[in-house]
Amino acid sequence: MIPALLSWTITTSLTAQITVHPNVIYIFPDQFRNCALHFWNDKEFQQYVNFKADPTHTPNLDKLARESVVLSSTQSNCPLSSPHRAMLLSGLYPDANGVMLNCLDKRPVSNLRQDVVTISDVFSQNGYDCGYIGKYHLDYPTPNDPQNPGKYVDEKVPVWDAYTPKERRHGFNFWYSYGTFDEHKNPHYWDTEGIRHDPKEWSPKHEADKAIEYLSTVRDKSKPFFLVVSMNPPHSPYQSLNDCMEEDYNLYKDIPLSELLIRPNINPVLKKKQNAAPYYFANISGVDREFGRILSALKAMGIDKNTIVVFSSDHGETLASHVEDAKNSPFTEAMNVPFIIRYPEKLKPHVSNLLLSTPDIMPTLLTLAGLKNSIPATVEGTDLAAEFINQKPLKNAPKAVLYIRDADGQKNSEKKTISYFPVARGIKTERYTLAITIDKKTNKLQEVLMFDDLKDPYQMNNLSVEKNMKLFQSLCSQMPALLKKANDPWYREKILSDFIPY
Ligand code: CA
Repeated sequence: MIPALLSWTITTSLTAQITVHPNVIYIFPDQFRNCALHFWNDKEFQQYVNFKADPTHTPNLDKLARESVVLSSTQSNCPLSSPHRAMLLSGLYPDANGVMLNCLDKRPVSNLRQDVVTISDVFSQNGYDCGYIGKYHLDYPTPNDPQNPGKYVDEKVPVWDAYTPKERRHGFNFWYSYGTFDEHKNPHYWDTEGIRHDPKEWSPKHEADKAIEYLSTVRDKSKPFFLVVSMNPPHSPYQSLNDCMEEDYNLYKDIPLSELLIRPNINPVLKKKQNAAPYYFANISGVDREFGRILSALKAMGIDKNTIVVFSSDHGETLASHVEDAKNSPFTEAMNVPFIIRYPEKLKPHVSNLLLSTPDIMPTLLTLAGLKNSIPATVEGTDLAAEFINQKPLKNAPKAVLYIRDADGQKNSEKKTISYFPVARGIKTERYTLAITIDKKTNKLQEVLMFDDLKDPYQMNNLSVEKNMKLFQSLCSQMPALLKKANDPWYREKILSDFIPY
């Protein structure tokens, strides 16, 4: 028989060994804007932001925020699905990771490079069980349907959807995913073995069930886990009960649009987007509920204390503000995404205005998980974990982050895009937003958007460059260092060198 004290020591040291690396669960619904989080209107959070939050119901996220480090100013550098996802996984800017544009059938140029080392590769190499559930959107569609070899996953060539074969899964050993598909109540997925599933239920609900199943029975419990859940809602479509759950729609259906759309920058012309508001918010509340179910499961399994939980999004949603396009613009509704991170063992709840941007997430998370030494030397993002742990501004905290918008470049004889054009670049600082667009033929300056986000949080007054030349020059002077770090074509080609002091 082992004496009680010795037994206690063995158990403790075994537990210590097992718990060296925490579990990590990263949940990021698509197109979820930061201002759609209800808690920003609550007294203890309102003091940290200068906007009013949407009149949503997000009780689970509100509760999580009070247990977490909450960032008010996380920026999606290239606020578009595929580019964000590639930067998130790789810690690299688009030029290095291969995804500059949304992945689709006409763009062989944009496809996640197989040889980059992603966060899931690193977790996997360090003994983690790695799972991916939901939308992936990092593959150029090819005729590789696992059920019909040599055929595409749809009868006609799909514009968006794609199957990710095992060799392109970057360390994820559990797979339940698809490329892109926008019927929220008729989703489909391919599992680890390539079997297709068509569950005919609202996708976040189905994905929460799958996540809970993975957590409770599927994963290898002798290992820590890294689980990514990428829900499609509140992404469009958002125009009927085909897109959301009725119980969530009922929260908003009787509220006049004037009370749902509280931002003063609503564009009166965008009637269709205005009418989408109750459905967009219904999807927000539904995602909150399904997210809450996953959190409850973590707690019920007794693993919530040693699990890092992150809630974020790939980009925001302009809804009816400014322009019709929901994303791919420098407006705060598109660039500013939620970032809530809970890690009870290491992080004290607080709110921070740290300018975290997409490529920083990979190295930061790896350090928080105790894998700092495994961050690939090639990573371009900055490890900002110390800011989360120490609760005080870091010396190397970003003063500005890059804004990126790319467009199709050259096309081949089949009209497929074989190069990209870096059509706009800019920066977001604590106070200002600057975005400069160039002409595709001449590389000359075409448009400047410049906002004082402190005085004008809803970006209703585009500052004149002529009247604010010093400010424009000062913001331009901050661009070369960021463009260099991203090995950006603007830096390599010294684009607009009359304004930007390379
Ligand atoms: Ca997206």
